[in-house]
Amino acid sequence: MATGNINVSVENIFPLIKKFLYSDHEIFLRELISNATDATLKLKHLTNIGEAKIEYGNPIIEIKIDKDKKQLHIIDQGLGMTAEEVEKYINQVAFSGAEEFLEKYKDSAKDSGIIGHFGLGFYSAFMVADKVEIITKSYKDEPAAHWTCDGSPSYTLESHSKSERGTEIILHINEEETEFLEDSKISELLVKYNKFMPVPIKFGTKTETLPKPEGAKEEDPAPTQEVDNIINNPNPAWTKQPSELKEEDYKGFYRELYPMQFEEPLFNIHLNVDYPFNLTGILYFPKLGQDMNMQKDRIQLYQNQVFVTDNVEGIVPEFLTMLRGVIDSPDIPLNVSRSYLQADGAVKKISSYITRKVADKLNSLFKNDREDFQQKWNDIKVVIEYGMLSEDKFFEKADKFALYPTVDDTYFTFEELREKIKDNQTDKDDKLVILYASNKDEQHAYINTAKEKGYEVLLLDSPIVSHLIQKLETSKENVTFVRVDADHINNLIKKDEETISKLTDEEKETLKGDLEKVIPSDKYTVQLEAMDSNASPFMITQPEFMRRMKEMQQTGGGGMNMFGNMPEM
Ligand code: ADP
Ligand code: MG
Repeated sequence: MATGNINVSVENIFPLIKKFLYSDHEIFLRELISNATDATLKLKHLTNIGEAKIEYGNPIIEIKIDKDKKQLHIIDQGLGMTAEEVEKYINQVAFSGAEEFLEKYKDSAKDSGIIGHFGLGFYSAFMVADKVEIITKSYKDEPAAHWTCDGSPSYTLESHSKSERGTEIILHINEEETEFLEDSKISELLVKYNKFMPVPIKFGTKTETLPKPEGAKEEDPAPTQEVDNIINNPNPAWTKQPSELKEEDYKGFYRELYPMQFEEPLFNIHLNVDYPFNLTGILYFPKLGQDMNMQKDRIQLYQNQVFVTDNVEGIVPEFLTMLRGVIDSPDIPLNVSRSYLQADGAVKKISSYITRKVADKLNSLFKNDREDFQQKWNDIKVVIEYGMLSEDKFFEKADKFALYPTVDDTYFTFEELREKIKDNQTDKDDKLVILYASNKDEQHAYINTAKEKGYEVLLLDSPIVSHLIQKLETSKENVTFVRVDADHINNLIKKDEETISKLTDEEKETLKGDLEKVIPSDKYTVQLEAMDSNASPFMITQPEFMRRMKEMQQTGGGGMNMFGNMPEM
């Protein structure tokens, strides 16, 4: 039997680990299962390249609770460790065997999915355990080793009779952490962190109903059998190629991710990039409508199929935090502060990649099936409009597919709208006048009058519309938005006005019939009426400018974002 001191530069690292390394005690399970997964994936890799001459089989990881002994066991069938390797990998805190492995097999193991890299994960076990044992047998032909440590910097290492390959970690759970001996607690953690990890994880058994044998009577109970309760799906959709997946698979994965969501997603975006950073994932546009407070099912961030967080703030642009789905990247630095994340170069690239992918997907949906895109517009417009306001790159792309519906449900892109109305709705200053209503019922009298004049009236009713209008007016040349009940509408016609204004009243009267033939009667009427200041066809409530000022004040001065805060614009 060997004894020794764990090789650390700081004498009492355990209290430090317990206190500061991870604020969340529960992540010890994630760390130990990650190590068990790494051990299994390493073995897989070594057999693949012919370095381990063993039968790989179908290894699983098992979690067992021993309530009487107050123990939690994490058992794998991975590559195991020799006594020498235990000395090397376990006794040196902050030395990562995972990193060493990746370094050694640099080229071939690049995509092996190895998780660990800080060399600290194992010690998180001491956050919940007074004593930790490792019983491990290497795939190499060497006796098994048994390591024990009670949380002080001294340990024991002896040989053990374990004959099957792999590692068993035994945690002697601390008095204050007995919740980790409850089935329900462990189940909850497994579902939260390990639901999509790449090696099957067994936790207990479950009863499976089998089909009745032929000739069985109606009243005979169906036979049952006890099978392993595997809590994870080792091959989640996002790890597959888009070409392998059908629409149904994407929908199925959405239900797997959010079992409590009954609405189907509107569409999905498969992310898949390996240069200059590694990122996979599937994002979904949920049906949001006007309700923007549904923030409970959020995008989940994974690292090599291990759940990290569902707070992706700083990693995806804010306007896309309304989406759902999964992002998996080994390149996102974890366990670091949000402000650091925002400054990180890789994270910035990831964020702009995601923005671009979302814009491209929207564009192709628009191009390939405009009818369908129009139908979804109401459910997606908040995200798109907010994106147009907050990200200039997104604005440029979205400008081609952002839709402006009229009160009669015709959908125009901005350029289509310009084409359609430019002859009829240009004012004295050569500005394109875009009329819009914000409430069909309240403004219906104005809408009708405008329509009678042949004007198009948009229905812009999303909560950030005043900001969007401002953005469009500043980024497009010679465009002004006028609400349908504003006074400005009287100045719409420019070109015909000049001609008509040269006529005397008598000429107008006699030429009335001819005039109506050459220019559309609606323009003609408006023009005649507009020239007569007493016969204004519109009731003037307040000028557009005044109205907007008031609206801005109501929404908090500078503006608001979709969560009701002010964006930095
Ligand atoms: P990291 O996973 O970041 O390398 P850890 O502290 O989690 O660091 O683990 C340290 C090392 O201990 C691992 O890299 C690995 O070499 C070894 N190790 C831990 N758990 C196991 C296991 N279940 N099977 C084999 N080796 C293990
Ligand atoms: Mg680890």
